[in-house]
Amino acid sequence: MNEVLITADRVIAGPADQVIDKGGVLVGSGIIAAVGAASELDASVDSRVPRLRCAGATVLPGMMDCHVHLAFDAGPDLISAVADADPDELSTAITTRAQQMLAAGVTTVRDLGDRDDLTVAVRASIDSGATVGPRIVAATAPLTAHGGHCGFLGGEVTTDDDIRAQIARNAAAGADVIKVMASGGALTPSGPRMWEAQFTPGQLRLIVEEARRHGLGVAAHAHGTETIGHCVAAGVRTIEHCSWRTAEGIVYDPEITDRIVANDVSVCRCVSGDWQLFLEQMGSERAAAMVKVIQEMREAGVRFIAGTDSGVPGARFGDYVGMLEFFASLGFGHAEILDMATVNSAHALGLSDTGVLAPGMRADLIVVDGNPLTELDALRRLRHVFTAGRPVTG
Ligand SMILES: [Zn+2]
Repeated sequence: MNEVLITADRVIAGPADQVIDKGGVLVGSGIIAAVGAASELDASVDSRVPRLRCAGATVLPGMMDCHVHLAFDAGPDLISAVADADPDELSTAITTRAQQMLAAGVTTVRDLGDRDDLTVAVRASIDSGATVGPRIVAATAPLTAHGGHCGFLGGEVTTDDDIRAQIARNAAAGADVIKVMASGGALTPSGPRMWEAQFTPGQLRLIVEEARRHGLGVAAHAHGTETIGHCVAAGVRTIEHCSWRTAEGIVYDPEITDRIVANDVSVCRCVSGDWQLFLEQMGSERAAAMVKVIQEMREAGVRFIAGTDSGVPGARFGDYVGMLEFFASLGFGHAEILDMATVNSAHALGLSDTGVLAPGMRADLIVVDGNPLTELDALRRLRHVFTAGRPVTG
């Protein structure tokens, strides 16, 4: 049922050093049935199965965006836009934005903060097949301090009991992950500053323990150097932003980084497609300091995962490849970048059925013109996108 044999100049099965020249992928019933040499698959697969012959193209795993906000419109006044939106209209907007990501080759998105659990309803509609869209991993309302970063999303907590209740609420609503705003953020100027902690180390440990009790991992928004250390000690699974801020500017701590690596914590260094403008606005000195800490983390062996923070002001949906190009501009290799966007992101999100092309995996894959291992821009030239074996039509 719905079988198709895709053949191309190469298949990047993943990790990105696993390349099959003149390769093929047999898709069947939502999962990958076989991966191998095109000639062998062509000969062995029933001739009634349709062939998608993609000369000049590469087949690779669908890409993943580990940090988006589907409820946000990327405009300058998103807080009132989110708060004032009619739920039905906001649901439609969430679906449209998710589909924009899918059209850009992103087959999995992790939403790290929405309103009224609306992404969970969209996720259900996609999973049932009623709506075409990417796989959604949803955090629902992020835990934050009273009056803190993104409190308008409904996840404000003060006491330990509040924390337990909010996590139980999110889990019951269908959250796949618990998001905590461990430090302040730029979006909420009335709350703590970006480098200031919103939770004590003990509260962060409680959040991780409670999330684990509900079978969930924790994604921690953390700009502050001290907060990053506390999040790692508490046992979070991913650090979002990880910008090493203090009141005195960027202060990098290699000992915390060693613990990030040792504890298998992944870092989502959110970068929008418009990063060049963002760096210009930062000024050359601060931009250079920001880039330097990313290089130091990379040299220390940190596992980076891909995230755009799409939805926050200036971070448009569907400009995913622009984010990958930021890492290329820092000297990351193309294979390293593709792994960041696929297998490493799947690992960090605890998804064992996507991120590589192998028999039994979800058929989340893309076909692009050219070879992204030599030319990242090839990722913008999408010929086909499959999500759970379903072809996406434009
Ligand atoms: Zn965010």
